[in-house]
Amino acid sequence: MKNYIFDLDNTLYSPEKDVLKEIDRRINIFMHSKLNLKNVNELRKYYRDNYGTTLLGLMKHHGTNPRDYLDFVHDIEYEKLLDKDENLISVLGSIEGKKIIFTNGSYMHAVNTLTCLGVIDMFDNIFSIENYIEYPKPFEPSYDKVIKALQILPEESLYFEDSKRNLNAAKKFNFKTALVWDRDEDFDYSFDTIYDIIQLKDAEVNVG
Ligand SMILES: [Mg+2]
Repeated sequence: MKNYIFDLDNTLYSPEKDVLKEIDRRINIFMHSKLNLKNVNELRKYYRDNYGTTLLGLMKHHGTNPRDYLDFVHDIEYEKLLDKDENLISVLGSIEGKKIIFTNGSYMHAVNTLTCLGVIDMFDNIFSIENYIEYPKPFEPSYDKVIKALQILPEESLYFEDSKRNLNAAKKFNFKTALVWDRDEDFDYSFDTIYDIIQLKDAEVNVG
């Protein structure tokens, strides 16, 4: 494999961490306090189902400025939520090839998260929501954009995700797929934790 593409949240750290819970809390505050919206949970579900992200729903229905939203919802205490992860550092270090972050979070969210985990210097690129705000994962233009912008061939790229929906979309582009923190035979690989991808080091990474 030439390229290793990683989702960020609940992929590079355990889904048991409270990062997304904190962001969720901030999204609810944004919708309640800044936009005076009621039925926030229902609205969020509707937006996610129809547009992929809450942000896109808010942009379409309430004229929300994406920068304001992204800065507000990612204003969380990273150093309280995440620690430097020596195990992750050594696992990522064992994988040779270009390493890319592909996230529906903001660029600064990725930088802050990777910095707290101690792995910011291990990535060649961060491809964040600012690059495909109108078509977040799992919509096809986001995959198209990452392929074109970074000039990668999906067949030479292994993509790690905690989201089956996002991985299934990637399959259509012929990415090799790896589910993490879960098991499912629908994908080329699946791993109980992100640390288990160390097994790739010994296996001939030549799937499909
Ligand atoms: Mg994720």
